[in-house]
Amino acid sequence: ASQANFMRVIVNSLPVEDARTENSERFGVELLCVVKAVLKKIKRRVLVGDRVLVSSIDWVDRRGMIDNVFQRKSEILDPPVANVDHLLVLFSMEQPKLEPFILTRFLVEAESTELPLTLALNKAELVDEHILVEWKSRLRSWGYEPVLCSVDTKRGLDTLKFILRDKTSVIVGPSGVGKSSLINALRGNRHVPGAAEDDNCFEPILGSKWFEEQRVGEVSMRSGRGKHTTRHVSLLPLSEGGYLADTPGFSQPSLMKVTKQSLAQHFPEIEKMLKNNAVGKCSFSDCLHVGEPGCLVKADWERYPYYLQLLDEIRIREEFQLRTL
Ligand code: GDP
Ligand code: ZN
Repeated sequence: ASQANFMRVIVNSLPVEDARTENSERFGVELLCVVKAVLKKIKRRVLVGDRVLVSSIDWVDRRGMIDNVFQRKSEILDPPVANVDHLLVLFSMEQPKLEPFILTRFLVEAESTELPLTLALNKAELVDEHILVEWKSRLRSWGYEPVLCSVDTKRGLDTLKFILRDKTSVIVGPSGVGKSSLINALRGNRHVPGAAEDDNCFEPILGSKWFEEQRVGEVSMRSGRGKHTTRHVSLLPLSEGGYLADTPGFSQPSLMKVTKQSLAQHFPEIEKMLKNNAVGKCSFSDCLHVGEPGCLVKADWERYPYYLQLLDEIRIREEFQLRTL
């Protein structure tokens, strides 16, 4: 088997009888696992972040075999991580300068994953405080409450740690904003989760009496960058609890999952306008909010021109896709 066939799995559940005995020290143990051949045959790819069932465990050599993969809550493709429950959208105030349209593209792409997101603005020390205050209220009008931070001065890092705790997060944003720097800054000491920290560990799930439910910590993946290059993604356990993917996510939003009809759902301003109206929806059920009769969405908000621009872009893409069918 090649290197790519091994995965690091952290034990976070044990059979009830083990959890209550001296074997409870097995919590947090890392096992190097192979993937059962049949899983590969049926193309059940095991992703970082997957919860898996492990058998044939050798506790001395810390080896095992991944037998099955539990159903995923969510899955993102870039980087490939399962069970992500939060996106941290990172931009910088300067170098590169905060650009409202680029930020909008990222926010729309992030919203289209349907995962909760946090917006953080890095390199805060590079601009005057009044500019930060202006941006904060501007972004509030978009529907976001940004966290101001600086990897250099450590401003906001405690707030981010608090937001990231007990979640599995991926950082996304354009290149140069400080994603890798932030990941390194948040990299705490490797923490070993203890049985006492998580009472849920004692509860068997899926009704099975004998199980080893585990979390995959690392996998190699083929990147699109070349035939022979592999990129690794792992989940870093954060000191405050929670996990952070050590590879930043998309740095160029493709908006491929966004359709003309779904675009409006990714603008909190539109959602708010609809919600605040007693009628609750436009006259036409397929209203694109471009001046149709009976449309509840007004044109007097900052990002409306961005909405129209993205709508146009998506329309062109959809028409092209139709023609190439
Ligand atoms: P990435 O492309 O988003 O991963 O960005 P990097 O982490 O590689 O950072 C790009 C550059 O920004 C590097 O030179 C970092 O040292 C710098 N950088 C990161 N955070 C800060 C910050 O808070 N303030 C300043 N002034 N520079 C930063
Ligand atoms: Zn409308």
